[in-house]
Amino acid sequence: MQCPLKTAKEYKIMKLIDGKAVAAEVELETRARIEALKARGITPGLAVVLIGENPASQAYVRNKDRTCAALGMHSRKIELPSSTTQEELLDLVTKLNVDPEIHGILVQSPPPKHIDEHAVTLTIDPRKDVDGFHPVNVAKLAMEDPTAFVPCTPLGCQRLLIAAGIETSGAEVVVVGRSLIVGKPMALLLMAKGKGGDATVTIAHSRTKDLAAVTRRADIVIAAIGRPKALGAEHIKDGAVVIDVGINRVEDSTTKTGYRLVGDVDFDAVASKCKAITPVPGGVGPMTIAMLMANTVTACERLTA
Ligand code: NDP
Repeated sequence: MQCPLKTAKEYKIMKLIDGKAVAAEVELETRARIEALKARGITPGLAVVLIGENPASQAYVRNKDRTCAALGMHSRKIELPSSTTQEELLDLVTKLNVDPEIHGILVQSPPPKHIDEHAVTLTIDPRKDVDGFHPVNVAKLAMEDPTAFVPCTPLGCQRLLIAAGIETSGAEVVVVGRSLIVGKPMALLLMAKGKGGDATVTIAHSRTKDLAAVTRRADIVIAAIGRPKALGAEHIKDGAVVIDVGINRVEDSTTKTGYRLVGDVDFDAVASKCKAITPVPGGVGPMTIAMLMANTVTACERLTA
């Protein structure tokens, strides 16, 4: 089965959360903000730096470039050879920090092994850190400072929950995964006060004992594990909401590319018992790019206010 969306009717799903539709909604809002900036003679600009030739990273960068163009934003795609030195990369980021055409800077992860990713993150001006990885933005998120740039994937997940009408206030949420990109900021967003927050949050990870017992407690499960179909029916209680962040390539000789994308949740095994669930692809993925565009426009609005 290629696309879970096609088979939705076969399941007793109350709601399939359509990431493409919600991303389109976010993009409409972003487009209106871009037009307002353009009326002032300003075009928001995003620089995406790709080092090396990782095919998945190349695909992500192409996608970001395309979305920027479609929204009428300025996109600067900078492709560097894998031999690029740390010094050369930091020098480039420093120049982008003061480039008036650029309001958001993103260095595609993962860089080659000889690059110190943390040093790169520290070099990006926090005001242009649209990925939300700089310690200033991480701290602002923890402090519930509304000027924080929040990492795009968890921000997109929260927006999906709100758009789908899922109440997070007082809900038991289990986030599986504790990365700085997804798991930790997701937990911070969900425990923050206000809309899309106020949840009782547990973070699980590879050392969690009896993961299924922990996730079965959850009204909402957020899976950010990076292992195909790691969560099955035994992990999900009846009527739970499942947000599947995972994007895993698995071999599939029936497709043109020889692979297909699956999530961290076994959709076929879980969907029929869920109140709502995101598909992969077509769930969280489109939201990540939509939130990146929104963050870049926010950066532009602030830098040009
Ligand atoms: P990381 O590898 O950085 O983190 C994975 C987390 O899962 C770790 O905290 C790890 O625990 C935990 N984990 C691993 N195995 C298990 C297990 N068996 N049981 C419980 N926990 C486990 O991944 P990311 O957070 O960067 O990404 C997670 C997934 O989300 C990936 O599939 C990635 O492709 C996808 N992703 C999707 C995006 C999108 O736009 N939709 C954007 C970003 C990521 P420990 O810390 O103990 O090692």
